[in-house]
Amino acid sequence: MEQEPLLMIPGPVPVPQRVRAAMTRQAINHRGPEFGAAYADCVRTLKALFGTENDLYIISGSGSAGMEAGVANFARDKSIVSLVNGKFGDRFAKIGQRYGMVTVLESEWGTPLDLAALERELEAGAEIVTMVHNETSAGIKNPAPEVGKLARKYDALFIMDGITSIGGDDVRMDEWGVDVAVVGSQKCLAAPAGLAAIAVGERAWDRISDKRPFYLDMAAYRKSGKGTPMETPYTPAVPLFLALCEACKMIEEEGVGARIARHRRMADAVRAAAKGWGVDLFPKLDAYHAYSNTVTAMRIPGVLTDKDLRGTVKKFGIEIAGGQDHLKGKIFRIGTMGGVGAQEILATLAAVQFALKTSNFAAGDGVEAAAGVLLG
Ligand SMILES: *Cc1c(COP(=O)(O)O)cnc(C)c1O
Repeated sequence: MEQEPLLMIPGPVPVPQRVRAAMTRQAINHRGPEFGAAYADCVRTLKALFGTENDLYIISGSGSAGMEAGVANFARDKSIVSLVNGKFGDRFAKIGQRYGMVTVLESEWGTPLDLAALERELEAGAEIVTMVHNETSAGIKNPAPEVGKLARKYDALFIMDGITSIGGDDVRMDEWGVDVAVVGSQKCLAAPAGLAAIAVGERAWDRISDKRPFYLDMAAYRKSGKGTPMETPYTPAVPLFLALCEACKMIEEEGVGARIARHRRMADAVRAAAKGWGVDLFPKLDAYHAYSNTVTAMRIPGVLTDKDLRGTVKKFGIEIAGGQDHLKGKIFRIGTMGGVGAQEILATLAAVQFALKTSNFAAGDGVEAAAGVLLG
């Protein structure tokens, strides 16, 4: 029997059958009550995942569209400090450069951000901070509460990419002082790719630019979102909305706390496997940074190549991710996002262990270590 490949990459993630089925319905009017109710339902669930009571809107576009919406509406012509310790932090800086004046504070990918340097920039008058909460390219979780505190202290806006933390890890937008936060549909929410959600706080609304983009104009989203039924300014990707709505129902059924705990346990299991194998975790941490709870980045041992590793794993119908840009060939990443659980993780880890051993790396029993964690 031909099996579907198992995607254990950090997004897109496998989409449950219920969610896929929701996409195949006959078209509905996006200005009607049914669409409005679906939109409102998604917003309610997403607000809980963002940890916010702020306004929240759904954009037809991938996560990067949400990042760009945040910068283009709220950071236009402003002085921006971009914190970078991986590929997506770098993307945020590049988006910033299209709209404002960016100072990049870059640390080596997978190493801690420099909070002292951030404070110096804020003291010198920076108006905006951009940061990726969970840096997917390096498997490191960045210090959102500390950055939020600093941004508030100097009256700057904090725009946060929560694309691979929201829905899989604890995020408290309001408590942490995040002014704009973004998530993408194809990561921890386990919905199809193509939607982003953006939450906007009062301080950001007060400073919204007069020179806004047309399609991603957040003031237009706000206006359309106020009515009954709730609407979007232009025709949204209706099938994706319906799928996201079903994914949100599944999240409600599981419970937000249980979902975050499950993501933690899965990442713990992968880290336990790495330890069991004798494979190094990639990130270098300090007291403010942590290992990601949704994607684990590990160094590829010197005796084998990326192809030996991922090529062998793929023979079992399982896809894991390599490194991006200069980390190509140096690291591999296992995503543990969305609806996956013990079955998928054990299969993936067994395949990786086999690949390590058959390529002459003297791996210990990581699968057994992970199994212990999964059983709790
Ligand atoms: C996946 C991802 C994005 C957005 O990517 P898209 O391909 O535009 O959906 C942005 N930031 C992070 C941290 C991501 O993991």
